[in-house]
Amino acid sequence: MIFEKSEAILNRARRVTPGGVSSPVRSFKHVGGNAFVAKHGDGAYLFDVDGNKYIDLVCSWGALIHGHNHPRIRTAIEQVLQSGTSFGITSEKEVELCELLTKSVAGLQMVRLVNSGTEACMSALRLARGATKRDLIIKFDGCYHGHGDSFLVGAGSGVASLPVSESAGVTEKTLEDTIVLPFNDVEALEATFKARDGEIAGAILEVVCGNIGVIAPEPEFLSALRSLTQKSKSILIFDEVMTGFRLSLSGAQNLYGISPDLICLGKIIGGGLPVGAYGGRADLMEHIAPLGSVYQAGTLSGNPLGCAAGIASLELILENEKFFYQALDAYGSEWKSQMDSHIASKGYAASVAQIGSMISVFFTPDLPRNYADVKTADKGRFKKFFWALMKQGVYYPPSPFEACFLSIAHDHEIMEKVTEASFLALDEAFRDG
Ligand SMILES: *Cc1c(COP(=O)(O)O)cnc(C)c1O
Repeated sequence: MIFEKSEAILNRARRVTPGGVSSPVRSFKHVGGNAFVAKHGDGAYLFDVDGNKYIDLVCSWGALIHGHNHPRIRTAIEQVLQSGTSFGITSEKEVELCELLTKSVAGLQMVRLVNSGTEACMSALRLARGATKRDLIIKFDGCYHGHGDSFLVGAGSGVASLPVSESAGVTEKTLEDTIVLPFNDVEALEATFKARDGEIAGAILEVVCGNIGVIAPEPEFLSALRSLTQKSKSILIFDEVMTGFRLSLSGAQNLYGISPDLICLGKIIGGGLPVGAYGGRADLMEHIAPLGSVYQAGTLSGNPLGCAAGIASLELILENEKFFYQALDAYGSEWKSQMDSHIASKGYAASVAQIGSMISVFFTPDLPRNYADVKTADKGRFKKFFWALMKQGVYYPPSPFEACFLSIAHDHEIMEKVTEASFLALDEAFRDG
């Protein structure tokens, strides 16, 4: 493949920004080889500056559920642009977005707008601590909640080992305030609540893991988490930045019938612009300034541009909710079932996790239940798989620890091409030597 122009731009980029990227995964460090530089997007397709055309299975990491450059979202942005981009004081668009969010998402009685998923999760965590007047937080190994200090903490290697920081610059104090447990492990949960009862401010998780590849929660894990947090008066935070409006209007909570106290949103609610939100029980949200003593603010929060894009993105779903999710989920399940049969017929050590429009191919013989399982995957085979797809014009997330996101623009015809390409890519990945 030719990446001449991309390489020239990335060479310039590397001089002025670390690794030439604004976010690390874009450097292709997990797959080796050249990253590309995007030029434009259209529906399910992404085009790079060298003229390569890809079926995009990343969709801006899930934000673009309507595909690239949807005309309705573009028009909504254009209309607002006429009157300005930010006012630094309330404008009607943000009220409208908050109304849409509280109307659509179960349990979201009040909501505060921010500018990213990271901000949403950091703020929800502060709220949990402020409302409970406790410090300890539980997170789950492999769950990603943005780059706030408290979230860059992982499990140590031994069973009973202390948490370890996943980034330089995270203080020991932060580690001490964080308990990291394996996902889907009820025993570890019960033991922790028993040992630290009355000290735990809250627990945060991705209900469906997406940032280590797709992993489903086991029902007994979620119900244990709900009852233990309730009993100990700790706050249960669902990070639905990825799953909100993707798995259903109410996100993943709706699939499993468990209600959290607080919910974090992002990605889809900005329609491709930077918007995040957190909210939930009104009695908790009333702790937020100016009503309460938990401080959180933002110069560009609720700006009319992001809100207009978000409103258009949500309205496109709401207008046709049932059909929308049926169609979207069908694209995902058809791809999975086809890959499953191919993998079975060839006897490959691979597995396909799929929940709605989130899909991951794992180079493990069985579906992983947690991050430790994910780490056993064959990274060499993943790289071959990734590049074989690229050569066929399919852009799969450039890391074995990510999920594919489909958009409503990924119709049956496009998914058929993806299926054919992934058969060949699987064959390539398992061709030894
Ligand atoms: C993307 C993501 C975040 C972080 O959102 P940003 O907008 O990148 O800051 C947080 N949590 C989850 C589950 C995510 O997928």
